[in-house]
Amino acid sequence: MGSVLAPVVPTPTGADPLDVLGVPDLVNLDYAATAPCARVAADAVAELLPWYGSVHRGAGGLSQRSTLAYERARQTIGDFLGTRPDDEVIFTRNTTDALNLLARAVPAGTSVVTFGGEHHANLLPWPNVVRLPVPATPDAAVRALGEALGELRRGSDRSAPILVAVTGASNVTGECWPTEALATVAHRHGARIAVDAAQLAPHLPVDLAASGIDYVAISGHKLYAPFGTGVLAGRADWLDAAPPYLVGGGATLGVGNATHDVRWATGPGRHEAGTPNLLGAVALAAVCAALDAADRGELYAREQRLLARLRDGLRALPHVVELRTFGADAPRVGIVSFVVAGRDSAEVATELGRRYAIGLRDGLFCAHPLARRLLTEAADRSGRGDLPPTALRASIGLGSTPAHVDRLLDALAELR
Ligand code: PMP
Repeated sequence: MGSVLAPVVPTPTGADPLDVLGVPDLVNLDYAATAPCARVAADAVAELLPWYGSVHRGAGGLSQRSTLAYERARQTIGDFLGTRPDDEVIFTRNTTDALNLLARAVPAGTSVVTFGGEHHANLLPWPNVVRLPVPATPDAAVRALGEALGELRRGSDRSAPILVAVTGASNVTGECWPTEALATVAHRHGARIAVDAAQLAPHLPVDLAASGIDYVAISGHKLYAPFGTGVLAGRADWLDAAPPYLVGGGATLGVGNATHDVRWATGPGRHEAGTPNLLGAVALAAVCAALDAADRGELYAREQRLLARLRDGLRALPHVVELRTFGADAPRVGIVSFVVAGRDSAEVATELGRRYAIGLRDGLFCAHPLARRLLTEAADRSGRGDLPPTALRASIGLGSTPAHVDRLLDALAELR
C-alpha cells in the first residue's frame, strides 16, 4: 500500500505530460471554449481514483490522502498563479463562479470599473459598475482607466473601495490587455484590480506577486483539465470579511442552537461549503505543475508561429475579414474571430463540422457588446456590406498543429 503522504502528482511516464487527449481526425479549433484534457490531468485523476475519499471530513487513510491531495492542489495552483503569502486560493466551479464570488465579496459601497470589451462573466456580476467604452489601443485603455478613476476619486474619499475588473486576454480576439499597466494605474488611485484570466492563463504565465494584480480568476476546463473546477485567487481581507458565498458544512467553525448563532470560518473554507471537487482540483494542479516545469517561452513561441500561419492564411482569403479591437499587430494569444462575407456564420460552422470535421465556435461568444461592435468595425474597415451579424472563432493551444490550421484554411477557401 502506498503512503498517505506519497506525492499525488503522477510520476512521468516518458510521454510528454502536456500532450493532450483527443480523437484522431477531429480537428479541434475550439480551445477557447474548452481545451482538450492534458495527459497529465488524466493521469493524475487515474492515479488518485483508488484513493478517493472524503475531503476534510474523515480520519481514515483514504480521507487523509484525499484531503492532502486537495490542499496540495491548492498550493500548486497558488504557486502557478504567483500568489503572495497572504493571498487566498479558493476553488470554484469555473471563472464565472469565481467572478460572481468576488462580486459578492467586495465591501459594501465598492465601485467597480470595467470595459465594454469583457466576457459576460466579467461584465454582468458587478454591483455599482462603471462600464468604460472599448478602447482603440492598450495605451488608450490605461489612459481611460486613469481618467475614470481620477473622476471617481474626486467624488469619493480616498478610502472608498474601488475594484477594476478587466480581462487578461479577450475571448473574442485573443488580444492581450495591458493588465500590469492597468494595475499600476489602479493602485495609484487606491483601487484594486481583478483579472479575468480564463483566456490568458492557458497561454501565458500569470504572476500575482510580480504584476501586483489583486485577484485572478481561471477555469480548469480552459487549462487542459476537466470541467468543474475554477479558481479565484487574491487578497484575503475582502474574502475573509465577506458573507460566505456558499453556506453549509465546511464553511463554519461552529453552529449554535439559536437560528443565527453561526461562527463562519475564514480562509478558503468560508466560501467552499459542501464536499469539493477533489478530482477536478488535482487534475488542474497537475496541469499547472506541468506548465510550471515546461519552457513556457517555447510553448508560447510555438503557438505564435501557428497563430501567424492562421492569421496570414485568413488574410489571404479575400472573402474573410478578421475581428479586432486594437491594431493588427497587438499582442494576442491563439484566438482569432472572423467572418466569411456573404455567408451566415452558423451555417459555415455547421458545414466545417460536417464536411471537414473541424470544430470551432460561431456566435457572439458571450461578449455581445464587444462582438457587435467589432462586427460593425470589420464592416467599416473592409468596406463590405455583406458581413453576417455573428462571427466565427478559431482557437488553438497545446495540441494544435500546422495541419489543423491548414485544414481550416483549405476548407474556408473551398467554402467560398
Ligand atoms: N471570461 C472569459 C474571457 C472567457 O472566455 C470565459 C469562457 N468563454 C469566461 C470568462 C467564463 O468561463 P467559464 O464558462 O469557464 O465560467
